[in-house]
Amino acid sequence: MTYKIGLLKGDGIGPEIVDSAVRVLQAVGKKRGIAFEFTPYLIGGIAIDETGEPLPQATIDGCLASDSVLLGAVGGPKWDMLSGNQRPEKALLGIREKMGLFTNLRPAKLYSALKEECPLRADIVANGFDMMIVRELTGGIYFGERGYRQGKYGEEAYDTEAYSRMEIERIVRVAFETARKRRKKLTSIDKANVLETSRLWRKIVHELAVEYPDVEVSDMLVDNAAMQLVRNPSQFDVVVTSNMFGDILSDEASQITGSIGMLPSASLGSGTRGLYEPIHGSAPDIAGQNKANPIATILSASMMLLYAFNEKSASEDIVNAVDRVLELGYRTADLARGKASLSTTEMTDKIIENL
Ligand code: NAD
Repeated sequence: MTYKIGLLKGDGIGPEIVDSAVRVLQAVGKKRGIAFEFTPYLIGGIAIDETGEPLPQATIDGCLASDSVLLGAVGGPKWDMLSGNQRPEKALLGIREKMGLFTNLRPAKLYSALKEECPLRADIVANGFDMMIVRELTGGIYFGERGYRQGKYGEEAYDTEAYSRMEIERIVRVAFETARKRRKKLTSIDKANVLETSRLWRKIVHELAVEYPDVEVSDMLVDNAAMQLVRNPSQFDVVVTSNMFGDILSDEASQITGSIGMLPSASLGSGTRGLYEPIHGSAPDIAGQNKANPIATILSASMMLLYAFNEKSASEDIVNAVDRVLELGYRTADLARGKASLSTTEMTDKIIENL
């Protein structure tokens, strides 16, 4: 059996970090007798340069024909002057939609070796934290009606948030199921004191809670959640929230793990084919310098092994190798706080050595 993996390297540091993850997959595949076939497709700014559009049809077809897809990142200053629909970032929304991916799993865990790098006080993270943010991915304000119009004060712009019962139910179910496999605690985050979409969200969470009596569920307003994440992050196990709230809160969660370069993600639909990517962007400020932290992308590959291929041992091999390398004191520049650091390729070599 050969797993067919589509590679969307994208822009900025994308090619460097995807190449690192491919090397790690090849190494763990060799160790565990798993074969992969990698096929690159264009996405983002590079796709605009080469084909005129950020998400060419060939990329959509290639991803749909793959068993799974690994993405780097898209975007950069070169394409910043383009308008909405032509921007590289539009391809991200497009590919998620075409692949029917409505769930974004974003684990945020503090590695014990990285407690010093965490910007929170030592007593706050004494017991570490390990949460799974379940973010809705294809609905809400990022996909709602938008535009420009003449308003009371002249030119105005608007974006709208809409959520259907079906969209909320399916993501909340994923969150309950995920909580069942972890510490059985679910926090649903909304803004039900202001937003109608949040009031429907909350109502559905309470309805479904009856089917999951073994899971302890609570509601939290998003402004409070932003505060609780830095006040007491260990209180969270599984968090479920809408597209925009999840986008923002998971970046906050990433920073308290030490660096945004540490956080992987999996975007899933109803089948096993998913899209795996770091949560960070294309980091144009360090692109092409062999400085990027490849760990978020390498951990995304580990999530792929688990969720797409059910290769649990190989997935754990990668997580354990990352853990060991950090325990041994190796750091990329984003984690080194000015001390000696490894390049992207050196960090990848260390992880492979420790598989
Ligand atoms: P960013 O995540 O690219 O960078 C923010 C900061 O974190 C930068 O200082 C960067 O150097 C650092 N950083 C990010 N990843 C790192 C890594 N692996 N190792 C070390 N340092 C890392 O966010 P931004 O600067 O706001 O956006 C840059 C571009 O990326 C924009 O065009 C944006 O639209 C795009 N973007 C793409 C995605 C995606 O492809 N999924 C996500 C977010 C932003």
